[in-house]
Amino acid sequence: MSAESTDVVIIGGGIVGSAIARELSRYQLAVILLEAETDVAMGTSKANSAILHAGFDAKPGTWKGKLNVRGNHLYHQLWQDLSLDVDWMGSLVVAKDDAEQATIEELLARGNQNGVPNLEILSADQLLEREPNLATDVTGALWAPSAGVVCPFGAVFGFIENAIRNGVTLLRECPVQGIVIDNGRVVGVVTPHGVIRARFIINAAGIQADAVARMAGDNSFTIHPRKGEYILFDKTVRQLVNTVIFPTPSKVSKGILVSPTVHGNLFIGPDAEDVADKDDVSTTAAGMERVINGARRIVPQLPLAAAITEFSGLRAASGDGDFILRESETAKGLIHAAGIQSPGFTAAPAIAEVIADILREAGLALIEKAEFNPVNPPRRVFREMSWQERAEIVARDPLFGRVICRCETVTEGEIVATIHSPCGAVTVDGVKRRTRAGTGRCQGGFCGPRVTAIISRELGIPVTAVRKDGIHSFLFSDKLPGVCEVSTDEQP
Ligand SMILES: Cc1cc2nc3c(=O)[nH]c(=O)nc-3n(C[C@H](O)[C@H](O)[C@H](O)COP(=O)(O)OP(=O)(O)OC[C@H]3O[C@@H](n4cnc5c(N)ncnc54)[C@H](O)[C@@H]3O)c2cc1C
Repeated sequence: MSAESTDVVIIGGGIVGSAIARELSRYQLAVILLEAETDVAMGTSKANSAILHAGFDAKPGTWKGKLNVRGNHLYHQLWQDLSLDVDWMGSLVVAKDDAEQATIEELLARGNQNGVPNLEILSADQLLEREPNLATDVTGALWAPSAGVVCPFGAVFGFIENAIRNGVTLLRECPVQGIVIDNGRVVGVVTPHGVIRARFIINAAGIQADAVARMAGDNSFTIHPRKGEYILFDKTVRQLVNTVIFPTPSKVSKGILVSPTVHGNLFIGPDAEDVADKDDVSTTAAGMERVINGARRIVPQLPLAAAITEFSGLRAASGDGDFILRESETAKGLIHAAGIQSPGFTAAPAIAEVIADILREAGLALIEKAEFNPVNPPRRVFREMSWQERAEIVARDPLFGRVICRCETVTEGEIVATIHSPCGAVTVDGVKRRTRAGTGRCQGGFCGPRVTAIISRELGIPVTAVRKDGIHSFLFSDKLPGVCEVSTDEQP
């Protein structure tokens, strides 16, 4: 690899790096995306609220203000092209007193300025008719029908797999350790496998974007981690609300929301707490209390017994709070896509367009290639098939007749397919994020060892080499007990 040379290196396989990779794959360019972790979608892009925001929060004139609405608009085409899981259920910002009512009127005006379509103020009666489980002291709400919920990791896989199909190279477990500069210009990146020479480098390293900038002698910004904690509920409480429910926002966050997920669960969160450690994704008793109290303010009857897991994510907060999208002033050819806080997930495809424009202005020729294919093939999801489709697929491939995850009805056929896809799963959690095996009520208690055995067989590695998620997260020190073994050479 030391002799490898490319037009563009992208650092970071979150939603931003993946959307940029896919955007650049339209052009006659050699592009390599480097991800430090075992998989893409392992940073902030795996732990967030997963809302495709309508775009009324951001201040007009800021990058956030410009790119949220554009990103939301682009996803209305992309979810079909890339075969993403999205539910365009709309969102409500709920007011509970005069001051909050004034805030939602301001959000309406700001949203109109940002170009958000079809915003509307609902009265308390209209609101309670739509959402009967809300607190009865609500005074009204801002209704935004263009908002939606997305599968966050599924979106990253959708972008990166399309990018790979269109010629982008993905290297995982390849952390960038240094940036080589010659005469004030970037010429390559240092990795554990050697130097990769590149004419342009995109810094999409999320919470580590300031560290990457410093590798090129650029100290122009700092990223502070701001943690948000969540509680996820099982599917028995999905019907508690029909849409994404926000409180009125504060200065630092959109507040603790109550929202369905695209897969039929419900979550509450996030809180907002500045932390010192960029690896601190712990959940805490204090955080859980804040989240529960915040959510009960809007939906008082939350059945906590239906909670199945907790998680947290880190916002990449920059000094002025806006996205940092520009070429470095000290290292020519280094382009920052940094400080990507909320609504970064929504804005990602629009951020990718801006980064392409910056590259063009910086002297990179973007010549469209005739063979670019914007569409991913549809995914075969067993639990969403009719009985007839199920019978047909099992007849063609008996591995679809063996259910590995009972909670979410995920078959061995789907797991094998996802391991061999363009950005294939290599860890147990990688399979989970792609197929939902392990996301149900038992949280992988049943299917985890079986998925381990399938990865071992399909990748031709011993069970002891299979990891749960991170680089050193090995699961077993010996072979699996018989009950968890899967067939190695015979069809079931
Ligand atoms: C609590 C919370 C709630 C949110 N809710 C929403 C929401 O509802 N809607 C919305 O639109 N946005 C939301 N966001 C924001 C959104 O999640 C982020 O803007 C987005 O995920 C950022 O993506 P990213 O690609 O920049 O970063 P990441 O996903 O963190 O990706 C960066 C990647 O870079 C890799 N990396 C770092 N250093 C190196 C290196 N040296 N070499 C190689 N790779 C490296 C990391 O491993 C990581 O995979 C939320 C964020 C948080 C924290």
